[in-house]
Amino acid sequence: IKKIAVLTSGGDAPGMNACIRAVCLAAISVGADVIGYKYGYNGLLKQEYIPLDQYVVRNLLQRGGTILHSARCEKFKHPEQIELAAKHLEDINVDGLVVIGGDGSFRGAKKLQAVWDKPVIGVPGTIDNDITGTDYTVGYHTAIQTAVESLDKVRDTAEAFERIFVVDVMGREAGYIALNSAISAGADHVLLPETFTSAAEELVKILDKLDKRRKNRANKSHIIVITENLWPGGLNVLADSLQAESGVDVRILTLGHVQRGGSPVWQDRLLATKLGTYAVELIQQNEKGMMSAISHRLPAAIPLNDDTLTRKELNTYSMKIRDEITLLG
Ligand code: ATP
Repeated sequence: IKKIAVLTSGGDAPGMNACIRAVCLAAISVGADVIGYKYGYNGLLKQEYIPLDQYVVRNLLQRGGTILHSARCEKFKHPEQIELAAKHLEDINVDGLVVIGGDGSFRGAKKLQAVWDKPVIGVPGTIDNDITGTDYTVGYHTAIQTAVESLDKVRDTAEAFERIFVVDVMGREAGYIALNSAISAGADHVLLPETFTSAAEELVKILDKLDKRRKNRANKSHIIVITENLWPGGLNVLADSLQAESGVDVRILTLGHVQRGGSPVWQDRLLATKLGTYAVELIQQNEKGMMSAISHRLPAAIPLNDDTLTRKELNTYSMKIRDEITLLG
């Protein structure tokens, strides 16, 4: 192989830069040139790319964000645009493309693979950890760390005023960040898209838990973690109902995009480096339409098909301990 291309697409995640670096260094080590398309699939459609070498990727391992920029690209959903992308790759003799992104980006990668005869390899890069076939995605550990640090701080102020805090974390339609940050920070209640029934039912459960907690504990504060966009009508509706029913002061905290930023924690650096390197190995082996994944601590080639493009289920043991542990603390 003589030339490898890489791009970052969809929601940005800490560790994407580390992954770009790994792809670049692995490609150089097998004698290939490397280019980076900018702004996700937009760069591929506009032939907007930059050469990458060991000097460009120097000190990139620890930097948040992505030097290639990430973006959504609605146009890429049209078949003629995907044909155009394949033509552009051919025009400049690319031998393999690495797409770092989430499940949406992988859907695009799969379609591109169908019309291009060189390898397209996906690397799971998303804070949501919602991709079937890989134990973890690049960015997830850092996002959890950010959420946990924030929850620890919120607890201090919640306890001082004996308030209820509703903390909104990211995850789109997946509860991974909410569930595992809640357990790791000892939150009192967690609301997940996977188990959410209705506002009325969930409110009863929250009030019941609140009641038990307030009877059992000296401090009356209460921390509720919720996945973004989950409560019908928004979190003000939840906060108003909670305040009215409990008579306790309720505050809302939306963590938002800070969860996407910052220097990646070591788990994401290591994962990004392994998966980026393995993606280049897969291109060398002429493997097509695969995800460079981590499975039981080992790199694994997982086909990008309908099974892997469904949302990953939550960890059953985390789910099991969720209620037990939050009632005990
Ligand atoms: P994250 O889950 O972290 O936000 P993602 O990769 O799932 O990342 P999306 O916005 O779903 O983010 O997708 C990113 C891009 O992938 C889209 O803007 C589009 O360019 C491409 N894409 C998504 N779905 C498809 C599809 N069905 N066909 C072709 N391309 C797609």
